[in-house]
Parts: sequence; structure tokens; C-alpha cells
Amino acid sequence: MTPVVVVGAGPVGLSAALALRAHGLPVMLLEADPEDRERPGSRALFVHRETLALLDGMRPGLAAAITSYGRTWHTRRTLYRGREVYSRTFPPPSGRPPFTSLRQVDTERFLREACADAGVESVWNARVIGVRTTASGVSLSCADGRELTCGYVIAADGARSAVRAGLGIPMEGTHGEGFHVVVDVADRPGAELPLERVFHYEHPGVGGRSVMRVPFTGGFQVDLQCHAHDPVEEYGTEKAVRRWLPGVVGEGHGEYADRILWVSTYRFLRKVAASFTDPHQRVLLVGEAAHLFPPFGARGMNSGIADAAAAADAVATEAATTGTAATGAVADFAAVRRAAALFNSEAAGAALEHLRPQRRSVRLRQRAAAALAPVLPSCGSWLEHAPYGPRGGAPALAGRKY
Ligand SMILES: Cc1cc2nc3c(=O)[nH]c(=O)nc-3n(C[C@H](O)[C@H](O)[C@H](O)COP(=O)(O)OP(=O)(O)OC[C@H]3O[C@@H](n4cnc5c(N)ncnc54)[C@H](O)[C@@H]3O)c2cc1C
Repeated sequence: MTPVVVVGAGPVGLSAALALRAHGLPVMLLEADPEDRERPGSRALFVHRETLALLDGMRPGLAAAITSYGRTWHTRRTLYRGREVYSRTFPPPSGRPPFTSLRQVDTERFLREACADAGVESVWNARVIGVRTTASGVSLSCADGRELTCGYVIAADGARSAVRAGLGIPMEGTHGEGFHVVVDVADRPGAELPLERVFHYEHPGVGGRSVMRVPFTGGFQVDLQCHAHDPVEEYGTEKAVRRWLPGVVGEGHGEYADRILWVSTYRFLRKVAASFTDPHQRVLLVGEAAHLFPPFGARGMNSGIADAAAAADAVATEAATTGTAATGAVADFAAVRRAAALFNSEAAGAALEHLRPQRRSVRLRQRAAAALAPVLPSCGSWLEHAPYGPRGGAPALAGRKY
């Protein structure tokens, strides 16, 4: 019997497999897609220092490899209706940077290489379609007829998790109105935009919609927040992006419309699984199989990797003792990581309430803060920080963020 199976080779499943190997456990990683699949789009860019530390614990040297490829900007700017209200440039850090920014596909490439080096057994074209747990283990069925039994499953099979569905665990939460458009644009070699993260409230170049621009290695991501009733075809298609992009990238940068790599629309879901484990405590849900947040605050992939590390620790604790799910480590994992997810969901909700105010008073406060920012720097600082939600983490995480 395979001791542990990880389902899903996204960033969270790859991290879980790596963390299990760091504990010396054999691991099989099942992925529905073929090995040569293409994962388009930049998606989750921001890898936080806390996540880098976790990855380095799983595979020493991995954080350095990722940060030497990613980009770290030292300037953050905020504008309100065309006028700068905050700008700060920080000195470059001496040690590990506070974060690094790279496309998710590149993060996954580093993780896949690390998994191969660490001896993870990866099985591609293996779509899990059925799961059954007992007090002594888990049975999995795959679409190709393969049947497997194992002691524990870490389910990292994403937002539409078949494992979670097979266990009958519902997602609980809300979905907000509207959508945003995520666009990746390639750099123009020799004429790159400044290396800075820019948030622009009510950008005049795109009809008063808010826009964020985030650099990554090789280009930048533009995130346009559409109004609740905006038709997708007017903002979310490549043709539409070619029309509005020059207005938000700036004067003389119309050429960027020819450098669009990827366009996607993204809805504001805030959902957390009702439980992160099954009644026998044999399956551990992690990443988007367990929670969905809007991207502001970068809590999606960062918290998923924290789930993966915690799940591997719990499984290793069980495996080191009786292997009969008797230590309570899996129950503790489920309680702590669900508390973290609920906190993250609230934090993302606070960011959304700021970005898409339901109350007129919030919008008026933002306008007043923008007017006062030149004389009261705290107002500019509030406008800069509020789109990302509260900075801390759940009390159960003892000072950590994700
Ligand atoms: C369009 C888009 C834009 C995004 N933009 C951002 C962003 O700007 N910022 C941000 O922080 N986050 C963003 N995200 C979210 C971010 O991509 C996720 O947080 C991250 O991918 C979660 O990782 P995961 O490993 O949990 O799930 P996934 O990356 O979804 O990986 C799940 C894996 O499981 C596999 N799988 C699924 N079902 C099965 C099965 N039955 N059997 C076996 N394997 C299976 C899938 O093929 C996949 O490889 C975006 C997501 C999308 C879709």
C-alpha cells in the first residue's frame, strides 16, 4: 500500500509532495493532465517571504532559486483619478527579499524540478473520480480504471475538487458581484516600464474603473476591476483589452497592446470547505480544494502552500507513530488551517469592501483621503494599504500571516 497519495500537481500539490519527501515519506502524486500540459497565464504571482521560508524547509536552496528568477520591486505607488497619493521606495533588503514575483507557471516549474530531484513519483493522466475512506485508509479510483489504496490522501485538486465532492464536503461562503480582467503583457526589451507596483483608483483612462499593475519576470500583469453590470465582451476579451490597455499603461505605450500574452476574467468567490478532513481523518484538503479567495492580499497560493506544509507535518506525525490516525494531528491540521482560511476569507472580504464599496460612505471616505493625502501622508498610506486587506494572520497561526 502506498503510504501517501497527493492528488493534483498545481503549486499546492507539488509543495505537499515535496514536504512529504522532506519528512522522508514515499509519495505518489496523481495529476489529471498530461505531463506536457500548458498552464497559461501568470495567475498567482506573489510569493511571500513566509512562503519562501516554507519552501526552503521542504527543499533547501529552493527559495534562492525562485527569488533569483523572480522580480522584487522596491517602489509602490497609488494614484486616485490620475493623481498620485502615495509613493514610496524602500531600500533593497540585505537578506531574503520580502517577496518575489513570477508567473505561477514558473513557480510550478521550480516545484516540479524539486519534486523530481526529491524522488516524488508523479503519475500524469491520472484523474481521480472516486474516493472512499475507512478507519484504516483511503481507496481511490481513477478515470482510466486504476484503483489505489493508501494510508492518507492530501487533496490538492483545485477549485472543482473531485476528492472533496466525493467526500460530500460542501463549500460555504459567498460570491460577490462583478468580475475583474487579468491581463499578462510581455515587456518590451530595452523599454521596460518602471519596476514598481501601481494601484490606480478610478482610473480616468478606463472609465473610472480601478486598475492594478504588478511586474513579473518577463512582463507585467494588469488587473482591471469591472463594475457589477459591465458586459464581459466590452472589457474581458482580447479585442476589448487591446482597446483599453493603452489608456491604462500610459502615454506612448500603445505598443503594449501588441504584446498581450493572456487575458482572463476572474470572479470574486469567497468560499471555505465545511471541513478540511473526512470523518476518519484520512483525507486532508489543501489549497483551492479547501478555499477560494479573491486575489487581493495574495492569500490564495501563499495560504495553499502553508496548508501543504501543515498537512505534510500532520501526516508525518501520524506515520511516525501508529499510522492509525490516533494522534489527533490530522484533526489539529483541519482545525488550524480552516481557522486560517476563515481569517483569510474575512481579510479578502475587507479588501473587497474597500475596492468595491457597497456603502457610499466608503467611497466618500476614499475621495476625502485622496484630497487630504498631499498634506496628511497617513491618508495616502491608508489608500495604499487598504486594497490588500488586513496585514496579519489568524490568531491560531501564532504571528504568521497565511
Ligand atoms: C484565471 C485565474 C487567475 C488567477 N489569478 C490569480 C491572481 O492574480 N492572484 C492569485 O493569488 N491567485 C490567482 N489565481 C488563483 C491561483 O491560481 C490559485 O490560488 C492556485 O492555482 C491554487 O493552487 P492549487 O494547487 O490549490 O490548485 P490548482 O492550481 O487549480 O491545481 C489543481 C491541480 O489538480 C489537478 N486536478 C484537478 N482535478 C483533478 C482530479 N480529479 N484528479 C487529479 N488531478 C486533478 C489540476 O489539473 C491541477 O493541476 C487565479 C486563478 C485563475 C484560474
